Amino acid sequence: MKTVIANWKSNPNTTREAEKLAGAVEKSAAANNKTKVVVAPPFVYLPTVGQRLRRAVLGAQNVYWNEGGAYTGEVNLAQLKNLGVKSVIIGHSERREYFKETDEQINRKVLSALRFGLEAILCVGNKEKMANPAGFVNKQLMADLKGLSAKDGPLKLVVAYEPIWAIGTGDADDPLSAAQVSAKIKEQVQKINGASKVRVLYGGSVNGVNAGAFLERDEIDGVLVGGSSLSAKEFEKIIKTANNFG
Ligand code: PEP
Repeated sequence: MKTVIANWKSNPNTTREAEKLAGAVEKSAAANNKTKVVVAPPFVYLPTVGQRLRRAVLGAQNVYWNEGGAYTGEVNLAQLKNLGVKSVIIGHSERREYFKETDEQINRKVLSALRFGLEAILCVGNKEKMANPAGFVNKQLMADLKGLSAKDGPLKLVVAYEPIWAIGTGDADDPLSAAQVSAKIKEQVQKINGASKVRVLYGGSVNGVNAGAFLERDEIDGVLVGGSSLSAKEFEKIIKTANNFG
């Protein structure tokens, strides 16, 4: 079964729009039940979007590792779980770049989310095009998964390979290259935690036209979608395509 994740980022601007989009995604998810669909809206829409989803899974775009306390502006693991959130995106390149999240913070988020029973979707990826992206990604994995052991729910960990140069640019990676990096990520995570193979997604300018070229690859377990997830029609095309490989 392939996974398709919608990262709405800081969109849309109204609850009404969020409700409408969530309703459309739920319809597509229900009609394509060989695909796992996750919707990660901004925090403010989690209750509304959660109410609209049945088949599709509610996700979040970030989390704070503590369960409560004096941490102004943060949203914690317990709060997400109590709203029905099952998956959380961690270490997205926009959080690393604009909000200066460090590998150490990302590591704490991943471990605490997994230990709290949430699915952690760890984003990794190189800034510029390079000859050996897997080498760069391996270093990120070592830092972000430090201390991960087989008992940390290996099946709840997902890695999204998102070359930064491909995010929001319309210039998606070459599917063969993305598949090769995905295979290396699986090997590397297995080395780190000695457990079963992790699921690896590709993210970066995926749309209804190019999704199939990534999803047809066995090494790629799904796609993480930003821009194209804001159009119900475009996102439905991606879900339908994923379903053909389910
Ligand atoms: C993302 O936000 O993780 C992403 C892949 O965005 P886009 O699909 O717009 O490139």
